[in-house]
Amino acid sequence: MGTLMTAQLALQQGIACHLAGGTHHAHYDFGSGFCIFNDQAFAVRQLLDRGVVKKALMFDCDVHQGDGTAAMLADEPRAFTCSIHCEKNFPVRKMKSDLDVGLPLGMTDQDYLDTVFETLEQLLDWVQPDLVFYDAGVDIFQHDPLGRLHISEQGIADRDRGVLARCRQRNVPVATVIGGGYDDDRDALAQRHAIVIEQAFELKVES
Ligand SMILES: [Zn+2]
Repeated sequence: MGTLMTAQLALQQGIACHLAGGTHHAHYDFGSGFCIFNDQAFAVRQLLDRGVVKKALMFDCDVHQGDGTAAMLADEPRAFTCSIHCEKNFPVRKMKSDLDVGLPLGMTDQDYLDTVFETLEQLLDWVQPDLVFYDAGVDIFQHDPLGRLHISEQGIADRDRGVLARCRQRNVPVATVIGGGYDDDRDALAQRHAIVIEQAFELKVES
């Protein structure tokens, strides 16, 4: 329900951030990859069925493919699913998103940011969504044990800011969830998850 509420707040406020969410490996009738319930697929279906949203973009930047979201929304043309993930990583058997961008092992900041921004700009033009669900997974981080990419914390901040700014420039509301992130140091992990919220706050203050 938190993700649904976040999406509703995003529609009112332009940006809203959930302090949890992004359990994108959960399928309709089974859980997977630490995920029991697919919050984003549930939330977008609710909003589409209520007629509150006509077209949504699921923009998933967690390092793992959003296989549950892809499968659950495969027959839903009003929700466009895009996953930008490390290709050689969990899940082994990938589902088909409307757009899958598989990244090579060890990708670094600049190549990653170029890919994310180019993909998002094309999709905002093409899909013309009236809401974006953004999965800001921080398991792209270079020292994440389950990540396999090589992105710095500055790179995460640049990604989050760039994604949010591009949505705002086009007046498309954006709802963020934290997605994945792994670290034995819980404080460091919490700070990493907070990056998207800090970036959203700064953008709001500046506008
Ligand atoms: Zn992940």
